[in-house]
Amino acid sequence: MDIPSPESTADAFADRYGRRPDGVWSAPGRVNLIGEHTDYNDGLVFPFAIERRTWAAVGRREDRLLTVHSGAMPEPAQASLDSLNPEDFDGWSAYVFGVLWAMEQRGVDLAGRTGFDVMLASDVPLGAGLSSSAAIECAVASAVNDEWELGLSRRDLITICQLAENGAVGAPTGNMDQTASLMGKAGHGVLIDVRAETAEPVPLHFADEHLELLVIDTRVHHEHATGGYGARRRSCELGAQLMGVGSLRDLDEADLPRAAEVLDDETFRRVRHVITENARVARTAQVVAADGPRAIGDLLVASHASMRDDFEISVPELDLAVETALANGAIGARMTGGGFGGAAIALLDADRAEEVGGAIQAAFAAAELTAPIVFVVSPSDGAHRDL
Ligand code: ADP
Ligand code: MG
Repeated sequence: MDIPSPESTADAFADRYGRRPDGVWSAPGRVNLIGEHTDYNDGLVFPFAIERRTWAAVGRREDRLLTVHSGAMPEPAQASLDSLNPEDFDGWSAYVFGVLWAMEQRGVDLAGRTGFDVMLASDVPLGAGLSSSAAIECAVASAVNDEWELGLSRRDLITICQLAENGAVGAPTGNMDQTASLMGKAGHGVLIDVRAETAEPVPLHFADEHLELLVIDTRVHHEHATGGYGARRRSCELGAQLMGVGSLRDLDEADLPRAAEVLDDETFRRVRHVITENARVARTAQVVAADGPRAIGDLLVASHASMRDDFEISVPELDLAVETALANGAIGARMTGGGFGGAAIALLDADRAEEVGGAIQAAFAAAELTAPIVFVVSPSDGAHRDL
């Protein structure tokens, strides 16, 4: 597959619809550097937008229809501004039409407006934990915001795209993905405080230090991932309730001895992960500013151990990727994303990336596991208009 670009997406629009688009907008996927399962506990997360993006070429129509084609899908989809109802959205088109539905829910008046033709192209791998879902939502939302001259802020767009994912797609996720995709900045991480509703760019200095971040997509997708995610959320709610606080964000490391007395062993370990992970996110942002990115390796490794032992969301493939990266000189490594499969990340010297990738492939082959997909990502700009 050729890597898509704004120009190729505009050309694909012209081939399909027989006219040039009004413009092309794009939004990136993201990787989470640190802060796992902290977002729904009102906590801290520290993702960055990556160079892999989804482009949306968009042209206004004269009627009320919405038509969307995606290079990733064999069939187009259609809806009408007269009747946007999540129950009618089929499969992937819910990510697109859901944004329009969410805008209406948030007070955008659809009366008197006309629809769009949309052509999508993406190089964010679908379902690999790099948030192709936020990329498609945020690209479409950015385009509609400009086309209809709505003047919505990036904060508004975050809320709308999260509502699309929760209410139209039906995935009960926090807003980390949409925040990273809309607020990302080249060379920076996005330090998100969910409770305070702040998202602050923090320079990561990877390139200055000749570092790269390797993503190892294990291609493992466990059936029980959704159930496991729900069970972890319930444990966190139970822990907060038994500790007498509104959310686990109200607790810190000084509360651990009391938590050990009050909670059963499993709930205690779930709570300990969230408390210590919040502390590690805050520490990562401090350390990268004070001492540079080479100093954050131990925090990444500690995060992985906490997810493996306390939160119990790792799998042997993720552990193998992390251990092999560290054994071959990575500065730090951890699983990233919700767990039960998906991807791991490794921070390493740029000139070692190929060797470490090869060592991981060899370790997976020796263990007779499916070959992982390994590639480098770098902190990139958030959603914008390209053409
Ligand atoms: P992730 O966000 O980690 O990639 P999700 O399951 O949240 O995984 O979202 C993946 C889904 O988003 C796909 O299965 C598809 O329905 C939809 N999607 C993402 N990108 C595109 C695209 N470019 N074209 C069509 N659908 C897409
Ligand atoms: Mg997603």
